[in-house]
Amino acid sequence: YCAKRAGGGHAFYRERDDEAARVHLQLAQDLRRDVAGPAMVLHYQPKLDLHTDAVGAVEALVRWQHPVDGLLYPDTFLPIVDETGLMTTLTRNVLTQAMDQCAAWRRAGLKLSVAVNVSADDLESNGFTDLVIGTLRERGLPADALTLEITETTAMENSEPAHRTVRELHHVGIKVSIDDYGTDHSTLAHLHRLLVAGELKLDRRFVMHLETEERSSVIVRSSIQLAHALGMAVVAEGVENAGALAMLRDWGCDTAQGYFISRPQTAENITEWLVASRGYGTTRSSSAPTPA
Ligand code: C2E
Ligand code: MG
Ligand code: MG
Ligand code: MG
Repeated sequence: YCAKRAGGGHAFYRERDDEAARVHLQLAQDLRRDVAGPAMVLHYQPKLDLHTDAVGAVEALVRWQHPVDGLLYPDTFLPIVDETGLMTTLTRNVLTQAMDQCAAWRRAGLKLSVAVNVSADDLESNGFTDLVIGTLRERGLPADALTLEITETTAMENSEPAHRTVRELHHVGIKVSIDDYGTDHSTLAHLHRLLVAGELKLDRRFVMHLETEERSSVIVRSSIQLAHALGMAVVAEGVENAGALAMLRDWGCDTAQGYFISRPQTAENITEWLVASRGYGTTRSSSAPTPA
């Protein structure tokens, strides 16, 4: 009935497009105001070490506490961050907050390392390695307090500046992880490009259907074997049930992440969760007995 009200189909769609464009423009404007500040908040999701049953690391995931629209998730605003050229500004903010939190955890006796997601823009920007080293050094944190997650698509891009940055990071001992592994078609043929990465994160679309889809389990099992043969550790993301977790354990997967273990939560809540959950102690308390 809207189409009628707008006086015809074309007018209706034009009105809808205008509205979408207006919202988009407004968000871009709000982002410029908020991207470098505390409205960008981090939630943290545990990475469970399946060999020790301890949480040695958490992944920082950004959310935007928008003054009008409430808590916004990355899918709704990262594309705008990207197209407005604000990605490196966001990353600087996220990196600072994540390393502040990491240092606070370590002062409290929780020896966690934190994973931060970075984009192609970051890896191609001048001085990124120095920024990372400086951020760690200012807080007295060692290189292994930080992991940088780059998507497989970014890793596969033919960008010499990005590859140089990854080699530099590797050289100073900062772990690089290949995120969303399995979403890029040309992976096998170009695997040698990923070799300075220490970790492979299997995309959740394979992990989520482990129990029901034979194809998924074949892909996950062989990816674990391949990564191990190449000297990389394997993380499974999107573990949503006990069955998937058991299969991953059986197959020698190193680390698991997903709603079944914990959803991403605020720093405060994840700290409580880490202290309270018996089986999922941090490395410091990993000698405690774990439930069957
Ligand atoms: P990602 O790095 O692959 O992160 C995993 C995403 O899957 C997160 O979504 C997480 O909340 C969600 N997830 C975790 N466990 C499960 C599960 O068991 N089931 C399901 N269905 N989903 C699960 P989120 O937080 O919405 O982040 C989406 C993407 O946005 C991230 O994917 C990452 O690529 C990007 N991102 C997040 N934070 C940052 C950031 O600070 N900087 C940059 N450049 N990108 C970020
Ligand atoms: Mg990630
Ligand atoms: Mg991922
Ligand atoms: Mg993903």
